[in-house]
Amino acid sequence: MPQKQKSAPEIRLSPIDFTSQGESVQRLIRSFAVKNIVHAYLLTGDAGLGKKSLARLLAQSLFCENSDKAPCGECGECARILAGTHPDYFELVPTKTKQLSVEDVRNFQEKIAVKSYEGGWRAIIIPNGDSMTPQAQNALLKTLENPPEKNVFIVCACRSSSLLPTVLSRLRSIALLPYPLAAFVSQLSRRSIGEREAKKVYAVSGGSIGTAIAMLSDSDYMPLRDQISLSIPKLSSARDIASLSLALKERKNDSDIIFSLIEQTIRTPLLAQSGSSDARELMLDYPLDWQKAAREERESSFVKMLEAVMEARKQSVSNVTFQAVLESLFYIISEEHNSWQR
Ligand SMILES: [Zn+2]
Repeated sequence: MPQKQKSAPEIRLSPIDFTSQGESVQRLIRSFAVKNIVHAYLLTGDAGLGKKSLARLLAQSLFCENSDKAPCGECGECARILAGTHPDYFELVPTKTKQLSVEDVRNFQEKIAVKSYEGGWRAIIIPNGDSMTPQAQNALLKTLENPPEKNVFIVCACRSSSLLPTVLSRLRSIALLPYPLAAFVSQLSRRSIGEREAKKVYAVSGGSIGTAIAMLSDSDYMPLRDQISLSIPKLSSARDIASLSLALKERKNDSDIIFSLIEQTIRTPLLAQSGSSDARELMLDYPLDWQKAAREERESSFVKMLEAVMEARKQSVSNVTFQAVLESLFYIISEEHNSWQR
């Protein structure tokens, strides 16, 4: 039994609350708390959903001294995991390039060739499984096929397709889901981000807490987001079309994000029509005629707008000027918008 540390490092609770994740995540957390586990897991889901935070939380459960409420986040063991000072807790990350190389894996395998430092569990997290080269994966496979006793691997990856089928077959896979709007808002409020700001980035962040925080802290992004979400639903006259395309004409480098923001603006009423209560709530910030169009199920109109965005994406990589691409796109959106008055 490890000695309780007198001066434990500063304790940080997991920054993400996983209670709104699906049943499979809840079951996983419970299974770690009672040590009813297999030796290798894969956590998948978009960037920013909290895969690494969840992996750390699970590792804490393995070592936590308060087994009845593991992970307590308060005991010396929990604190050592969070501080990164636990001798039987590893995060396997690239050392030389951005990719996790076969050399990285082999160096690590030497470290775990001996028994765990404190004779109990050992947790190995691979925070960015997408970055593993095929050679590194093949090297890791050997350990996964013949794991040392009481070693638990947790691989985090945005896409399971970035892993070799042979590696995948050795991992128990659990998917993290986008957060529902209410949970998303409450998680961001724990980081002093207001409800209004949180709602602004909900759709475009794909319900991902980490992505939302990155967007909100990007001083360039939010003004662009506001400009597009306010101007697109108002497009009606030739003057509106000209002034918005003029304002954006120099931002061809941001075309990807601009088109995504436009798509998001148009997709929300479509989602509201299909019954998404989160989208319905987001519609409250739209002009009244857009709210009405969403209620009247003008689906074909929104679909036409979305098709026009797809076409504009294609056009933007051709020789046509970005301003001209935007003008034709905004013309189609305004035509559809105006048709609702008729
Ligand atoms: Zn604990």
